Amino acid sequence: MKLEGERWRTLVSTVRLGRDEYRVVRPAKPLKHAPLYDTYDGFRGVQLIVDKAAALELAMAWEFAMRSPRTLVYLPLRETEYDCRSFGVDDEPLLDLVLMHHSLGFPPSRWKEVRARLGRGRPHTVRSRGFPAVESLLTPDHQPLRRGYRDVVRHHFAADTLFLTGSWKSFALNGDQWRELIEDGPRRMHENPGEHFCTDIAVERIWDWMHVAYCHEHRVSANT
Ligand SMILES: [Zn+2]
Ligand SMILES: [Zn+2]
Repeated sequence: MKLEGERWRTLVSTVRLGRDEYRVVRPAKPLKHAPLYDTYDGFRGVQLIVDKAAALELAMAWEFAMRSPRTLVYLPLRETEYDCRSFGVDDEPLLDLVLMHHSLGFPPSRWKEVRARLGRGRPHTVRSRGFPAVESLLTPDHQPLRRGYRDVVRHHFAADTLFLTGSWKSFALNGDQWRELIEDGPRRMHENPGEHFCTDIAVERIWDWMHVAYCHEHRVSANT
């Protein structure tokens, strides 16, 4: 499956809070199989356990967030129908996910209020443009063009939500990971039944902070 050209059905809300106005984009329907949880001291970051449909939606959301500096991309993952686990002790609370740009300057402390005012939202279909080739993001000596604060994805927790904040480039630098997950994963899993297939998303220079793994039980489909 190719990411480019895929359509993501979303709902768009505009929320006014005091003098500020926020645009929030979320999936038209909650993802059926995408439990996200923090393993606390067990591992350094979070686990996200997906089926094929959820992996595709997450990749589309990441790509859309990358090129949408004025938008909060909200994935209400606590509404997952399947709460399957990989690493961890199975009772970690589920988290929602919000992707946004540093330049938006959105304080996670305001999220609870924004979330409460989303309303029904307007349907809008996003067409994925795919990720830029990773070579285009590197200098000739294969280093990212800029290594400043802006080009690293940061994380915050607030209101049962994981906020991943980045620049266009910091999201783009993880593009290959998402592409591999949805373009290579299904074939690899078909050819190697039982093999663990996952990708690792870099956050704050920890290359494997967010572990996105196909569910061993519902790797092909959770009836989505
Ligand atoms: Zn893994
Ligand atoms: Zn599962």
